[in-house]
Amino acid sequence: MNIKTKILNQINLDKQKAEHSSEVNLNKALQDKEFKSLYLKLKTLNFDIAKKEFEKQNVNSMKKEYKEVYAKAIKRLKDLGMTFDDFKPDYKCKLCKDTGFIDGKYCKCFYTRMNKQLTSNVGIDINFLHTFENSKFDLFDDKEKMQKVYQKIEGWCEKIDDSKFKNLVLCGQTGVGKTYLVECVCNKLLKKDKSIIFYSAFALNNLFLKFHTTFDESKQSLLDGVLDCELLIIDDLGSEPQIKKVNEDYLYLVLNERLQKNKSTIITTNLTLRQILDRYGDRTFSRICNKANTIIVNIENSDLRLKRQ
Ligand SMILES: [Zn+2]
Repeated sequence: MNIKTKILNQINLDKQKAEHSSEVNLNKALQDKEFKSLYLKLKTLNFDIAKKEFEKQNVNSMKKEYKEVYAKAIKRLKDLGMTFDDFKPDYKCKLCKDTGFIDGKYCKCFYTRMNKQLTSNVGIDINFLHTFENSKFDLFDDKEKMQKVYQKIEGWCEKIDDSKFKNLVLCGQTGVGKTYLVECVCNKLLKKDKSIIFYSAFALNNLFLKFHTTFDESKQSLLDGVLDCELLIIDDLGSEPQIKKVNEDYLYLVLNERLQKNKSTIITTNLTLRQILDRYGDRTFSRICNKANTIIVNIENSDLRLKRQ
């Protein structure tokens, strides 16, 4: 089962649960005779009012009666330890009522779930992301310089919607803290309710391969997430195996389409700009490292992981 189907199934399950428990509550309340008669009376009145309004008749007295019965029903429910809200499904996502869609597009909750799943696949727990606020710079060789880098990127996160810089490329050797910085960005943007999808270059490449070798109707939807989310993070570009006609072409396709839709992409890589050009070619390079819309940060430091030991 692909990850999207799995997530939509989870969402649908939550919808069923919410709706089921609201029905259980109603049935429980209806076992009370007094409440049941009030409830049925409300239903009848509701129907009659709608009918009369349709016939353009005066409904004032009926509306008054409705209010009175409603007040009695609330009171009776209170005696039973309930409220009318207990009969409304308590959806986890109030925006899409646990359908996963709004106006035919994936809801934010869909991406949040997807993101949770994907980050856990690469060993990052979204609930324990590093933050700009908690960042310490003691381990960096050039503390002040790193502080400035962090400030710059935090500022970028704050104004991301208006910034002409949509993309961020973090270059640097393994262990200089690129993923740490990406986590801070993730955290900041999640608080702004951005839909974020996090892929290791390796996992993204597997998705491209799947896309490349799928020929049924599911093909088009495979790339929906990486094309539609507000922020795509590609971690460790260059660590994926090179497959002819896959890496370069699909990476180009994704980056290009995201740029056209004005959506942000963050890439971390051990490669130098020269190596990116050699590996992915002119066309893709121009989408990764276009200075007009990309902030490129080169982090130089000795290996932080060794210092933490
Ligand atoms: Zn939703």
